[in-house]
Amino acid sequence: MLISCAIRTTCHRSQLIRHASTLLRSQAYIDGQWVDASKGAKFPVHNPSTNEEIAKVADCTSEDVDKAVKAASTAFETFSQTSAKERSALLRKLFDLHNEHQKELAEIMTLENGKPLREAIGEIVYGASFLEWFSEEARRVYGDIIPANTTDREILAIKQPIGVAAIITPWNFPNAMITRKIGAALAVGCTCVIKPAEDTPLSALAIADLAEKAGYPRGVINVLPASRENTPQVGSGLANHPDVHALSFTGSTQVGKLLLKQSASSVKKVSLELGGNAPFIVFDSADVDRAVVGLMGAKFRNTGQTCVSANRIFVQSKIYDAFIDKLKDAMRAQLHVGDGFKDASTCGPLINKRAVEKVSQHLQDIRSKGGRIVLEGSIKGNFVDPILAADVTSEMLVCSEETFGPLVAVIRFDTEEEVLKVANSTDYGLAGYFFSRDVSQIFRVSKKLQAGMIGVNEGLISTAQAPFGGIKQSGIGREGSKYGVDEYTEIKYICLGGLA
Ligand code: ADP
Repeated sequence: MLISCAIRTTCHRSQLIRHASTLLRSQAYIDGQWVDASKGAKFPVHNPSTNEEIAKVADCTSEDVDKAVKAASTAFETFSQTSAKERSALLRKLFDLHNEHQKELAEIMTLENGKPLREAIGEIVYGASFLEWFSEEARRVYGDIIPANTTDREILAIKQPIGVAAIITPWNFPNAMITRKIGAALAVGCTCVIKPAEDTPLSALAIADLAEKAGYPRGVINVLPASRENTPQVGSGLANHPDVHALSFTGSTQVGKLLLKQSASSVKKVSLELGGNAPFIVFDSADVDRAVVGLMGAKFRNTGQTCVSANRIFVQSKIYDAFIDKLKDAMRAQLHVGDGFKDASTCGPLINKRAVEKVSQHLQDIRSKGGRIVLEGSIKGNFVDPILAADVTSEMLVCSEETFGPLVAVIRFDTEEEVLKVANSTDYGLAGYFFSRDVSQIFRVSKKLQAGMIGVNEGLISTAQAPFGGIKQSGIGREGSKYGVDEYTEIKYICLGGLA
């Protein structure tokens, strides 16, 4: 496989594209064809480790949206009529191919996203788990027979695929955010138009390549890459399109709100997985070592660039100093910043300059407002050494904004009541974590913490079996789990009357 060859040798990484493996695609995928964008334009994709250009990818516009939606609408006519068993088998085939190509998919991801290869493989395994899960769920999309209001009637409620689904995904999980959505959509018989993030289109195109190999009929899956400049027209093209019936988005709250507004024009079913500002609370009763392990996972996975990353770390007074000491030791011992292709690296680069600037801004703000910097290193290019800041207070920026980087901000608190009030004083409510060994406290806090997902004595909670999603301004709808298919189905009520 060429990527591996290039990585092992000193080859320039752009050679990867010239000698592209079959999974490396740079054209859009519309109606079962690999095509240039309608206007013929291309945009560059960069390796965030080196800022080197690794590919030029088709830069789609609203014209391509029309073509892709037309293809997906036509394909829906037949794909929606396939049996659950057929759709299950197709998804299973895609899952098998995804596993077979695990290493290539991971290498493409490390190349365009920068995350360490080991972590990229982890994401590919996680991404595949949604294909497997939904290949199983495809056969369990049950309806109801409801006791009728009269004796000559039968009342049925059946679930049907909603139609064409628009899927807009971010760069931080270039594979799994797509499989989590298309897995559910394809399981129930929807067709999809995917708009991947401009930073990571290659991973999305690789999935389309595998879907083609798996035998998905033309038009069932379409991928429209677009540059940052063209993204708004592709996004609004999809959100406003009358033939798109569902829109699923993962990304920033700002863009989510825009898409929700745009989708109102055609009354789409919208599911949104938006930003978070996750509290991570360590109570006096916690197992401090376990809490440190939990935080290392919840904070440093993907170098802090996940929407469920712990953002505000609240530590109760009695264990405050001990926790900070142990965390400092763990960060020193376990975190190694470097190129994702180096074996020793545990933290890759941040995705781009804007991301680095945000972390720097939060750091300056903490410093200027009297926070204590316990651990700090350098910032070189997109590489940011992990930062540990203590004595953070709620007026600091880091408490109201997602840092999305390797900065741990620790806040001291005294009582459960006080910490719940502060932890909930945000418009966001995606994930929340707390560590405690007091059973009553565990139930109390689980119920009072305002988040769609709670990790109790656990820092890594995402799994295909569980419902992923937020409350408040962190989103609408749930992904994965048995609930995930609901975003792509409609309930139809059938009244059978005149029965003797
Ligand atoms: P981030 O700031 O983390 O990149 P975004 O919300 O900007 O988060 O990006 C998530 C996804 O939303 C990406 O696919 C991006 O291209 C897309 N996106 C960004 N702006 C718009 C827009 N105006 N309309 C539709 N999609 C958009």
